[in-house]
Order: sequence, then structure tokens, then C-alpha cells
Amino acid sequence: MRLGAANILTLITASAAAALVAGLLAAGATAASEDRLVAAGKLKLAGRYIACGRTPTQLSSTFWDYGGATKGRIILNPVKLAELPEAVRLWVYAHECGHQIYGARETRADCYAVQRGRREGWFNLAGMNQVCAFLKDRKGDWVHPPGPKRCTAMVQCFGKSKPPRASR
Ligand SMILES: [Zn+2]
Repeated sequence: MRLGAANILTLITASAAAALVAGLLAAGATAASEDRLVAAGKLKLAGRYIACGRTPTQLSSTFWDYGGATKGRIILNPVKLAELPEAVRLWVYAHECGHQIYGARETRADCYAVQRGRREGWFNLAGMNQVCAFLKDRKGDWVHPPGPKRCTAMVQCFGKSKPPRASR
């Protein structure tokens, strides 16, 4: 029997769903043995210490994405992050920190990351462009809007953000 187009689509969707579930399980509490838990305030990223309240960071080179967040924990994949420009690395962390503050709200987490970066002096227009380039081909997933849409919203947040305070 010929497999109809609709059936093929269903198969693809089912396998994609399975991959998502596997990813979610990987993001769960069971840490791989080579993972390292870094206490709040001890994380150094792109040459600077960066923190998110009391939230510790799990460094996992097997995590499926660049970063992730569960309640009370930030997960980073240092191998994947190493491919990215420094401002994007810090932006990924700040985005996951945004989830600790605002929960599952993706657009809010994006805006938080951009505004925090600008305030703290590690994010400027060049960084904004690097983040947009990073997201350009991301189609979005079950929670994140497509990359270009996220970029547009973040550019607006960036425009509203305050530049770093002059050093005294
Ligand atoms: Zn997110």
C-alpha cells in the first residue's frame, strides 16, 4: 500500500516529537556523569563572571541545545557555546536567567537578556546583530517563536534599553 502524504507527515511529526521528548528528558534532573554544577556567582563566561541570583548552572556538553532552564537551574552546553561570539554566549545565559525570573515567557526572557546586557556593558549594537545572525535560520520550536520574529522584538527592547551608567 502506498503511504499517503498525510501519513508521511504524521511519521515525521511523531519522530520529531520523540526527539523533543528525548531532549526534555536530557534536560531533566538526571545529570550525565561528566556534567559539572557551578555554584551561583562562580560561573565565568566570555571572560567575565555572570550570575543569576542564587541559581546554579549545570555545564553539560551533551545537552541538546546551547542553553536551557529548569526551575532553579540554568543548563549550558559549553561545547556548543564555544562556537558563538562572546556577546551571544552571554546573551544565551541571560536569556536562561530570564526564565528563572519570568517563567516560560520566551519574548520576555529575550528582552530581559538584551536590556540586562546593555545595562551591564557587555551588549551593544554589534552584539544585537550577532544575536540576530545566530537566530536567523532558527525556525522556532514548541516554545520559541521563529528567529527573525525574536530578533525584531529584541531590537525594539534594545532601543528602549538604557546604555551602561558612566563610570564614576
Ligand atoms: Zn527560552
